[in-house]
Amino acid sequence: LKRPSILVLGAGYGGLTTVVNLQKVLGTDAADITLINKNEYHYESTWLHEAAAGTLLSEQVRYDIKDVIDGVKVKFVQATVEAIDVVGKKVSTDNGEFTYDYIVIALGFEGETFGIEGLDKYALSIANVKAARYIREHIEFQFATWSAEPVKDDSRLTIIVGGAGFTGIEFLGELANRVPELCKEFDVPREKVRVVCVEAAPMVLPGFDPELVNYAVSHLESKGIEFSIGTPVVEATPEGVKIKKGDDHFDFIKAGTVVWAAGVRGNRLIEATPIENMRARVKVDKDLRAPGYDDVFIIGDCALMINEETNRPYPPTAQIAMQQGENVAKNLKSLMSGETTVEFVPDLKGTVCSLGDDDAIGVVFGKKVTGKRASFMKKMIDNRALFMIGGPMLVLKKGKFNVL
Ligand code: FAD
Ligand code: NAD
Repeated sequence: LKRPSILVLGAGYGGLTTVVNLQKVLGTDAADITLINKNEYHYESTWLHEAAAGTLLSEQVRYDIKDVIDGVKVKFVQATVEAIDVVGKKVSTDNGEFTYDYIVIALGFEGETFGIEGLDKYALSIANVKAARYIREHIEFQFATWSAEPVKDDSRLTIIVGGAGFTGIEFLGELANRVPELCKEFDVPREKVRVVCVEAAPMVLPGFDPELVNYAVSHLESKGIEFSIGTPVVEATPEGVKIKKGDDHFDFIKAGTVVWAAGVRGNRLIEATPIENMRARVKVDKDLRAPGYDDVFIIGDCALMINEETNRPYPPTAQIAMQQGENVAKNLKSLMSGETTVEFVPDLKGTVCSLGDDDAIGVVFGKKVTGKRASFMKKMIDNRALFMIGGPMLVLKKGKFNVL
Protein backbone atom coordinates (compact mmCIF):
# COMPACT_ATOMS: atom_id res chain seq x y z
CA LEU A 1 0.00 0.00 0.00
CA LYS A 2 1.34 3.44 -0.95
CA ARG A 3 2.11 5.69 1.99
CA PRO A 4 0.42 9.10 1.93
CA SER A 5 2.75 11.92 0.94
CA ILE A 6 2.77 15.16 2.91
CA LEU A 7 4.39 18.24 1.42
CA VAL A 8 5.19 21.16 3.73
CA LEU A 9 6.08 24.44 1.99
CA GLY A 10 8.16 26.91 4.02
CA ALA A 11 10.36 26.33 7.07
CA GLY A 12 9.31 29.40 9.04
CA TYR A 13 7.54 29.16 12.40
CA GLY A 14 4.45 27.46 10.96
CA GLY A 15 6.12 24.98 8.60
CA LEU A 16 8.92 23.94 10.94
CA THR A 17 6.53 23.47 13.88
CA THR A 18 4.35 21.28 11.65
CA VAL A 19 7.30 19.12 10.69
CA VAL A 20 8.81 18.68 14.16
CA ASN A 21 5.37 17.72 15.48
CA LEU A 22 4.75 15.30 12.59
CA GLN A 23 8.08 13.69 13.51
CA LYS A 24 6.74 13.18 17.02
CA VAL A 25 3.26 11.89 16.24
CA LEU A 26 3.92 9.74 13.15
CA GLY A 27 5.87 6.50 13.00
CA THR A 28 8.75 6.10 10.52
CA ASP A 29 6.66 4.32 7.88
CA ALA A 30 3.43 6.26 8.34
CA ALA A 31 3.97 8.86 5.60
CA ASP A 32 6.46 10.36 3.14
CA ILE A 33 7.08 13.82 4.57
CA THR A 34 8.91 16.41 2.46
CA LEU A 35 9.80 19.90 3.65
CA ILE A 36 10.64 22.47 0.97
CA ASN A 37 12.29 25.77 1.85
CA LYS A 38 14.12 28.45 -0.12
CA ASN A 39 17.22 28.36 2.11
CA GLU A 40 18.98 25.57 3.96
CA TYR A 41 18.35 27.55 7.13
CA HIS A 42 15.38 28.79 9.16
CA TYR A 43 15.46 32.40 10.33
CA GLU A 44 13.70 33.85 13.34
CA SER A 45 11.49 36.46 11.64
CA THR A 46 10.72 37.91 15.06
CA TRP A 47 14.39 38.90 15.49
CA LEU A 48 14.89 40.43 12.05
CA HIS A 49 14.64 44.03 13.31
CA GLU A 50 17.76 43.35 15.39
CA ALA A 51 19.71 42.03 12.40
CA ALA A 52 18.46 45.01 10.33
CA ALA A 53 19.64 47.56 12.89
CA GLY A 54 22.92 45.71 13.41
CA THR A 55 22.40 45.01 17.10
CA LEU A 56 22.49 41.25 16.41
CA LEU A 57 24.55 39.41 13.81
CA SER A 58 22.45 37.86 11.05
CA GLU A 59 24.23 34.57 11.77
CA GLN A 60 22.66 34.54 15.25
CA VAL A 61 19.17 34.92 13.76
CA ARG A 62 19.27 31.70 11.73
CA TYR A 63 20.01 28.01 12.14
CA ASP A 64 20.36 24.97 9.89
CA ILE A 65 17.09 23.17 9.20
CA LYS A 66 18.93 19.82 9.20
CA ASP A 67 19.81 20.41 12.88
CA VAL A 68 16.16 20.20 13.94
CA ILE A 69 14.61 17.65 11.60
CA ASP A 70 14.85 13.88 11.78
CA GLY A 71 16.35 12.87 8.43
CA VAL A 72 14.88 9.38 8.72
CA LYS A 73 11.32 10.67 8.87
CA VAL A 74 11.53 13.90 6.89
CA LYS A 75 13.15 14.65 3.55
CA PHE A 76 14.37 18.24 3.32
CA VAL A 77 14.64 19.84 -0.12
CA GLN A 78 16.20 23.25 -0.60
CA ALA A 79 14.18 24.82 -3.40
CA THR A 80 12.21 27.93 -4.27
CA VAL A 81 8.55 27.20 -4.87
CA GLU A 82 7.41 28.74 -8.15
CA ALA A 83 3.78 27.55 -8.43
CA ILE A 84 1.22 25.54 -6.47
CA ASP A 85 -1.31 23.54 -8.48
CA VAL A 86 -4.03 22.65 -5.97
CA VAL A 87 -6.16 20.96 -8.66
CA GLY A 88 -3.42 18.75 -10.13
CA LYS A 89 -1.93 18.32 -6.59
CA LYS A 90 1.60 19.27 -7.56
CA VAL A 91 4.16 21.96 -6.79
CA SER A 92 6.75 23.37 -9.19
CA THR A 93 10.08 24.56 -7.85
CA ASP A 94 13.48 25.55 -9.22
CA ASN A 95 14.61 22.09 -8.05
CA GLY A 96 11.95 19.86 -9.63
CA GLU A 97 8.26 19.06 -9.35
CA PHE A 98 6.61 17.47 -6.30
CA THR A 99 3.24 15.75 -5.98
CA TYR A 100 1.28 15.32 -2.74
CA ASP A 101 -1.69 13.75 -1.02
CA TYR A 102 -1.71 16.51 1.61
CA ILE A 103 -0.04 19.91 1.46
CA VAL A 104 0.69 22.45 4.19
CA ILE A 105 1.28 25.93 2.80
CA ALA A 106 3.36 27.96 5.26
CA LEU A 107 5.15 30.39 2.96
CA GLY A 108 4.91 33.36 5.30
CA PHE A 109 4.65 37.11 4.79
CA GLU A 110 5.80 39.78 2.36
CA GLY A 111 5.93 43.53 2.99
CA GLU A 112 2.76 45.34 1.83
CA THR A 113 3.27 48.61 -0.05
CA PHE A 114 -0.42 49.26 -0.87
CA GLY A 115 0.62 50.34 -4.38
CA ILE A 116 2.24 53.53 -3.04
CA GLU A 117 4.47 54.96 -5.75
CA GLY A 118 8.21 54.36 -5.44
CA LEU A 119 8.14 52.18 -2.32
CA ASP A 120 8.97 48.92 -4.10
CA LYS A 121 11.97 50.58 -5.69
CA TYR A 122 13.34 52.98 -3.10
CA ALA A 123 12.35 51.61 0.32
CA LEU A 124 13.87 48.65 2.15
CA SER A 125 11.75 46.07 3.94
CA ILE A 126 12.62 43.86 6.95
CA ALA A 127 11.31 40.84 5.07
CA ASN A 128 13.92 38.09 5.55
CA VAL A 129 17.46 37.60 6.77
CA LYS A 130 19.11 38.76 3.55
CA ALA A 131 16.97 41.90 3.45
CA ALA A 132 17.80 42.61 7.10
CA ARG A 133 21.53 42.24 6.44
CA TYR A 134 21.18 44.57 3.44
CA ILE A 135 19.52 47.25 5.62
CA ARG A 136 22.31 47.04 8.18
CA GLU A 137 24.99 47.37 5.49
CA HIS A 138 23.11 50.17 3.73
CA ILE A 139 22.95 52.26 6.90
CA GLU A 140 26.64 51.62 7.62
CA PHE A 141 27.48 52.59 4.02
CA GLN A 142 25.62 55.90 4.44
CA PHE A 143 27.53 56.69 7.63
CA ALA A 144 30.89 55.72 6.09
CA THR A 145 30.21 57.78 2.96
CA TRP A 146 29.18 60.85 4.97
CA SER A 147 32.37 60.56 6.96
CA ALA A 148 34.61 60.25 3.88
CA GLU A 149 32.99 62.74 1.49
CA PRO A 150 34.55 66.22 1.36
CA VAL A 151 31.23 68.01 0.74
CA LYS A 152 28.82 66.49 3.21
CA ASP A 153 25.20 65.65 2.48
CA ASP A 154 23.60 65.40 5.93
CA SER A 155 20.47 63.72 4.55
CA ARG A 156 22.56 60.55 4.21
CA LEU A 157 22.30 60.35 7.98
CA THR A 158 18.49 60.51 8.04
CA ILE A 159 16.69 57.21 8.49
CA ILE A 160 12.94 57.11 7.88
CA VAL A 161 10.88 54.28 9.33
CA GLY A 162 7.47 54.03 7.64
CA GLY A 163 4.86 52.64 10.04
CA ALA A 164 4.65 52.64 13.84
CA GLY A 165 3.20 49.14 14.22
CA PHE A 166 5.07 46.55 16.28
CA THR A 167 7.73 46.02 13.59
CA GLY A 168 8.41 49.75 13.20
CA ILE A 169 8.58 50.34 16.97
CA GLU A 170 10.83 47.34 17.62
CA PHE A 171 13.17 48.45 14.84
CA LEU A 172 13.25 52.02 16.24
CA GLY A 173 14.10 50.57 19.66
CA GLU A 174 17.15 48.86 18.18
CA LEU A 175 18.16 51.94 16.16
CA ALA A 176 17.95 54.10 19.28
CA ASN A 177 20.76 51.98 20.78
CA ARG A 178 22.65 51.41 17.53
CA VAL A 179 22.93 55.03 16.33
CA PRO A 180 25.35 56.14 19.12
CA GLU A 181 27.55 53.11 18.28
CA LEU A 182 27.48 54.00 14.57
CA CYS A 183 28.37 57.64 15.37
CA LYS A 184 31.39 56.49 17.34
CA GLU A 185 32.48 53.96 14.72
CA PHE A 186 32.16 56.37 11.76
CA ASP A 187 33.14 59.69 13.47
CA VAL A 188 29.70 61.22 13.03
CA PRO A 189 28.34 63.82 15.51
CA ARG A 190 25.07 62.42 17.00
CA GLU A 191 23.18 65.68 16.32
CA LYS A 192 23.69 65.18 12.56
CA VAL A 193 21.65 61.94 12.63
CA ARG A 194 17.85 61.97 12.34
CA VAL A 195 15.65 58.93 12.83
CA VAL A 196 12.07 59.79 11.89
CA CYS A 197 9.08 57.47 12.23
CA VAL A 198 6.19 58.36 9.91
CA GLU A 199 2.81 56.90 10.87
CA ALA A 200 -0.49 57.30 8.98
CA ALA A 201 -2.82 56.68 11.94
CA PRO A 202 -3.37 59.33 14.63
CA MET A 203 -1.39 57.27 17.16
CA VAL A 204 1.65 55.06 17.49
CA LEU A 205 0.80 51.32 17.76
CA PRO A 206 -2.83 51.92 16.76
CA GLY A 207 -5.25 50.03 19.00
CA PHE A 208 -2.67 49.12 21.67
CA ASP A 209 -2.93 50.18 25.33
CA PRO A 210 -2.48 54.03 25.41
CA GLU A 211 -0.47 54.00 28.66
CA LEU A 212 2.03 51.52 27.18
CA VAL A 213 2.12 53.49 23.92
CA ASN A 214 3.02 56.66 25.89
CA TYR A 215 5.76 54.73 27.68
CA ALA A 216 7.21 53.55 24.35
CA VAL A 217 7.05 56.99 22.71
CA SER A 218 8.67 58.74 25.71
CA HIS A 219 11.41 56.11 25.82
CA LEU A 220 12.17 56.44 22.12
CA GLU A 221 11.92 60.26 22.08
CA SER A 222 14.33 60.45 25.02
CA LYS A 223 16.83 58.64 22.78
CA GLY A 224 16.36 61.14 19.95
CA ILE A 225 13.75 59.37 17.78
CA GLU A 226 11.29 61.77 16.09
CA PHE A 227 7.64 60.91 15.34
CA SER A 228 5.43 62.29 12.58
CA ILE A 229 1.95 61.00 13.40
CA GLY A 230 -1.22 61.18 11.28
CA THR A 231 0.95 61.79 8.21
CA PRO A 232 0.80 58.92 5.68
CA VAL A 233 3.68 58.32 3.31
CA VAL A 234 2.26 58.89 -0.18
CA GLU A 235 5.36 58.49 -2.34
CA ALA A 236 8.99 57.42 -2.16
CA THR A 237 11.75 58.76 -4.43
CA PRO A 238 15.51 58.17 -4.56
CA GLU A 239 15.86 61.24 -2.28
CA GLY A 240 13.33 60.37 0.43
CA VAL A 241 9.59 60.30 1.10
CA LYS A 242 6.61 62.57 0.50
CA ILE A 243 4.17 62.69 3.40
CA LYS A 244 0.63 64.03 3.58
CA LYS A 245 0.03 66.61 6.32
CA GLY A 246 -3.61 67.67 6.33
CA ASP A 247 -5.96 67.84 3.35
CA ASP A 248 -3.87 69.72 0.79
CA HIS A 249 -0.51 69.95 2.43
CA PHE A 250 2.46 67.75 1.66
CA ASP A 251 5.97 67.66 3.05
CA PHE A 252 9.13 66.00 1.75
CA ILE A 253 11.71 64.40 4.06
CA LYS A 254 15.12 63.86 2.45
CA ALA A 255 16.70 60.65 3.66
CA GLY A 256 19.53 58.27 2.81
CA THR A 257 17.60 55.29 4.18
CA VAL A 258 13.89 54.49 4.06
CA VAL A 259 12.72 51.34 5.82
CA TRP A 260 9.13 50.36 5.09
CA ALA A 261 7.45 48.61 8.03
CA ALA A 262 3.84 49.54 7.37
CA GLY A 263 2.17 46.16 7.15
CA VAL A 264 2.35 42.66 5.72
CA ARG A 265 0.50 40.42 3.27
CA GLY A 266 0.64 36.72 2.51
CA ASN A 267 2.96 35.10 -0.03
CA ARG A 268 2.02 36.13 -3.58
CA LEU A 269 2.13 32.49 -4.82
CA ILE A 270 -1.28 32.11 -3.15
CA GLU A 271 -2.73 34.72 -5.50
CA ALA A 272 -1.88 32.55 -8.50
CA THR A 273 -4.02 29.66 -7.17
CA PRO A 274 -7.82 29.40 -7.60
CA ILE A 275 -8.21 29.63 -3.78
CA GLU A 276 -10.11 32.75 -2.73
CA ASN A 277 -7.80 35.12 -0.88
CA MET A 278 -7.36 38.68 0.33
CA ARG A 279 -3.86 40.13 -0.10
CA ALA A 280 -2.63 36.54 -0.43
CA ARG A 281 -4.24 35.50 2.87
CA VAL A 282 -6.84 32.73 2.82
CA LYS A 283 -9.83 32.71 5.17
CA VAL A 284 -9.32 29.14 6.28
CA ASP A 285 -11.87 26.70 7.68
CA LYS A 286 -11.87 26.01 11.41
CA ASP A 287 -9.42 23.12 10.98
CA LEU A 288 -7.09 25.35 8.89
CA ARG A 289 -7.99 23.82 5.54
CA ALA A 290 -8.59 25.95 2.45
CA PRO A 291 -12.33 26.16 1.69
CA GLY A 292 -13.18 23.55 -0.94
CA TYR A 293 -9.78 21.81 -0.76
CA ASP A 294 -9.75 19.03 1.82
CA ASP A 295 -6.10 18.20 1.18
CA VAL A 296 -4.76 21.77 1.52
CA PHE A 297 -3.86 23.27 4.91
CA ILE A 298 -2.80 26.91 5.05
CA ILE A 299 -1.13 28.29 8.19
CA GLY A 300 0.84 31.25 9.50
CA ASP A 301 0.81 34.61 7.74
CA CYS A 302 -0.84 33.13 4.61
CA ALA A 303 -3.91 32.17 6.69
CA LEU A 304 -6.66 34.47 7.90
CA MET A 305 -8.90 33.68 10.84
CA ILE A 306 -11.60 35.87 12.35
CA ASN A 307 -11.64 36.38 16.10
CA GLU A 308 -15.34 35.94 16.80
CA GLU A 309 -15.15 38.00 20.01
CA THR A 310 -13.92 41.12 18.22
CA ASN A 311 -15.14 40.24 14.71
CA ARG A 312 -11.69 41.19 13.42
CA PRO A 313 -8.93 39.01 11.97
CA TYR A 314 -6.32 37.66 14.36
CA PRO A 315 -3.04 39.49 13.69
CA PRO A 316 -0.49 37.46 11.76
CA THR A 317 2.00 36.40 14.45
CA ALA A 318 4.61 33.75 15.13
CA GLN A 319 2.69 32.84 18.27
CA ILE A 320 -0.34 31.79 16.19
CA ALA A 321 1.73 30.27 13.34
CA MET A 322 3.42 27.86 15.79
CA GLN A 323 0.15 26.85 17.45
CA GLN A 324 -1.32 26.22 14.00
CA GLY A 325 1.66 24.00 13.10
CA GLU A 326 0.95 21.81 16.15
CA ASN A 327 -2.74 21.62 15.26
CA VAL A 328 -2.09 20.64 11.62
CA ALA A 329 0.31 17.85 12.65
CA LYS A 330 -2.40 16.39 14.91
CA ASN A 331 -5.06 16.73 12.23
CA LEU A 332 -2.91 15.10 9.56
CA LYS A 333 -2.41 12.13 11.85
CA SER A 334 -6.17 11.95 12.44
CA LEU A 335 -6.96 12.11 8.73
CA MET A 336 -4.53 9.29 8.01
CA SER A 337 -6.19 7.16 10.70
CA GLY A 338 -9.64 7.90 9.27
CA GLU A 339 -10.58 10.12 12.22
CA THR A 340 -12.10 13.58 12.12
CA THR A 341 -10.09 16.79 12.49
CA VAL A 342 -10.28 19.14 15.47
CA GLU A 343 -10.78 22.87 15.17
CA PHE A 344 -7.92 25.29 15.81
CA VAL A 345 -8.46 27.56 18.80
CA PRO A 346 -5.72 30.16 19.34
CA ASP A 347 -4.40 30.41 22.89
CA LEU A 348 -3.24 34.01 23.06
CA LYS A 349 -0.81 34.59 25.90
CA GLY A 350 -0.19 38.26 25.21
CA THR A 351 2.07 40.62 23.29
CA VAL A 352 5.47 41.98 24.24
CA CYS A 353 7.13 44.64 22.09
CA SER A 354 10.84 45.26 22.61
CA LEU A 355 12.27 48.77 22.81
CA GLY A 356 15.88 47.79 22.26
CA ASP A 357 17.81 45.19 24.21
CA ASP A 358 17.06 46.66 27.61
CA ASP A 359 13.44 47.81 27.61
CA ALA A 360 10.02 46.66 26.40
CA ILE A 361 6.27 47.06 26.82
CA GLY A 362 3.63 44.39 26.84
CA VAL A 363 0.43 42.81 28.02
CA VAL A 364 0.98 39.28 29.31
CA PHE A 365 -1.93 37.17 30.59
CA GLY A 366 -3.93 40.42 30.73
CA LYS A 367 -1.34 42.32 32.83
CA LYS A 368 0.68 45.30 31.65
CA VAL A 369 4.46 45.05 31.87
CA THR A 370 7.23 47.55 31.11
CA GLY A 371 10.96 48.03 31.55
CA LYS A 372 13.50 45.33 32.37
CA ARG A 373 10.82 42.87 33.44
CA ALA A 374 9.10 43.13 30.07
CA SER A 375 12.46 42.91 28.29
CA PHE A 376 13.28 39.73 30.24
CA MET A 377 9.89 38.25 29.25
CA LYS A 378 10.53 39.08 25.58
CA LYS A 379 13.80 37.18 25.68
CA MET A 380 12.13 34.23 27.36
CA ILE A 381 9.47 34.23 24.61
CA ASP A 382 12.25 34.27 21.99
CA ASN A 383 14.03 31.38 23.74
CA ARG A 384 10.78 29.44 24.06
CA ALA A 385 10.28 29.53 20.28
CA LEU A 386 13.74 27.97 19.88
CA PHE A 387 12.95 25.37 22.52
CA MET A 388 9.64 24.37 20.93
CA ILE A 389 11.36 23.61 17.63
CA GLY A 390 14.88 22.51 18.52
CA GLY A 391 14.83 21.67 22.24
CA PRO A 392 17.45 22.72 24.83
CA MET A 393 20.45 22.31 22.48
CA LEU A 394 19.09 24.97 20.12
CA VAL A 395 18.42 27.32 23.03
CA LEU A 396 22.02 26.90 24.20
CA LYS A 397 23.30 27.58 20.68
CA LYS A 398 21.12 30.52 19.64
CA GLY A 399 19.29 31.68 22.78
CA LYS A 400 19.29 35.12 24.39
CA PHE A 401 20.95 35.07 27.80
CA ASN A 402 21.91 38.73 28.26
CA VAL A 403 18.92 39.19 30.53
CA LEU A 404 20.25 41.25 33.46
P1 FAD B 1 7.69 32.91 7.99
O1 FAD B 1 8.26 32.91 9.35
O2 FAD B 1 7.72 34.17 7.19
O3 FAD B 1 8.39 31.74 7.15
C1 FAD B 1 8.14 31.51 5.80
C2 FAD B 1 9.22 30.61 5.25
O4 FAD B 1 8.92 30.31 3.89
C3 FAD B 1 10.61 31.24 5.26
O5 FAD B 1 11.56 30.32 5.71
C4 FAD B 1 10.86 31.58 3.79
O6 FAD B 1 12.23 31.53 3.43
C5 FAD B 1 10.07 30.48 3.09
N1 FAD B 1 9.65 30.83 1.74
C6 FAD B 1 9.01 31.96 1.35
N2 FAD B 1 8.78 31.92 0.03
C7 FAD B 1 9.27 30.74 -0.42
C8 FAD B 1 9.29 30.12 -1.69
N3 FAD B 1 8.77 30.71 -2.78
N4 FAD B 1 9.88 28.90 -1.81
C9 FAD B 1 10.41 28.28 -0.72
N5 FAD B 1 10.41 28.82 0.51
C10 FAD B 1 9.83 30.04 0.66
N6 FAD B 1 5.20 37.66 15.87
C11 FAD B 1 5.08 37.33 17.17
O7 FAD B 1 4.23 36.49 17.52
N7 FAD B 1 5.88 37.89 18.13
C12 FAD B 1 6.86 38.77 17.82
O8 FAD B 1 7.57 39.27 18.70
C13 FAD B 1 7.03 39.14 16.45
N8 FAD B 1 8.01 40.00 16.09
C14 FAD B 1 8.21 40.28 14.77
C15 FAD B 1 9.26 41.12 14.42
C16 FAD B 1 9.49 41.43 13.09
C17 FAD B 1 10.65 42.33 12.73
C18 FAD B 1 8.65 40.89 12.08
C19 FAD B 1 8.91 41.22 10.63
C20 FAD B 1 7.60 40.06 12.42
C21 FAD B 1 7.36 39.74 13.76
N9 FAD B 1 6.32 38.88 14.15
C22 FAD B 1 6.16 38.56 15.48
C23 FAD B 1 5.45 38.26 13.14
C24 FAD B 1 6.01 36.86 12.79
O9 FAD B 1 7.37 36.96 12.44
C25 FAD B 1 5.23 36.22 11.64
O10 FAD B 1 3.87 36.21 11.98
C26 FAD B 1 5.74 34.80 11.41
O11 FAD B 1 7.07 34.82 10.95
C27 FAD B 1 4.86 34.04 10.43
O12 FAD B 1 5.32 32.71 10.37
P2 FAD B 1 5.16 31.86 9.04
O13 FAD B 1 5.60 30.48 9.37
O14 FAD B 1 3.81 32.06 8.47
O15 FAD B 1 6.17 32.49 8.00
P1 NAD C 1 1.06 46.46 11.23
O1 NAD C 1 0.06 46.32 10.15
O2 NAD C 1 0.76 45.94 12.56
O3 NAD C 1 1.46 48.01 11.39
C1 NAD C 1 1.70 48.82 10.27
C2 NAD C 1 1.61 50.29 10.64
O4 NAD C 1 1.90 51.07 9.47
C3 NAD C 1 0.24 50.71 11.14
O5 NAD C 1 0.39 51.45 12.31
C4 NAD C 1 -0.30 51.55 9.97
O6 NAD C 1 -1.19 52.58 10.40
C5 NAD C 1 0.97 52.12 9.38
N1 NAD C 1 0.82 52.55 7.97
C6 NAD C 1 0.10 51.94 6.99
N2 NAD C 1 0.20 52.65 5.83
C7 NAD C 1 1.00 53.70 6.08
C8 NAD C 1 1.47 54.80 5.30
N3 NAD C 1 1.15 54.94 4.00
N4 NAD C 1 2.29 55.71 5.87
C9 NAD C 1 2.65 55.59 7.17
N5 NAD C 1 2.21 54.59 7.97
C10 NAD C 1 1.41 53.65 7.44
O7 NAD C 1 2.40 45.77 10.63
P2 NAD C 1 3.73 45.31 11.35
O8 NAD C 1 4.15 46.25 12.41
O9 NAD C 1 4.69 45.00 10.25
O10 NAD C 1 3.30 43.94 12.04
C11 NAD C 1 2.94 42.81 11.23
C12 NAD C 1 2.47 41.69 12.11
O11 NAD C 1 3.55 41.18 12.89
C13 NAD C 1 1.40 42.12 13.12
O12 NAD C 1 0.49 41.09 13.25
C14 NAD C 1 2.16 42.29 14.41
O13 NAD C 1 1.33 42.01 15.53
C15 NAD C 1 3.25 41.24 14.27
N6 NAD C 1 4.43 41.68 15.03
C16 NAD C 1 4.42 41.40 16.38
C17 NAD C 1 5.48 41.83 17.13
C18 NAD C 1 5.47 41.53 18.61
O14 NAD C 1 4.57 40.84 19.08
N7 NAD C 1 6.45 42.00 19.37
C19 NAD C 1 6.54 42.53 16.55
C20 NAD C 1 6.50 42.80 15.18
C21 NAD C 1 5.42 42.36 14.43
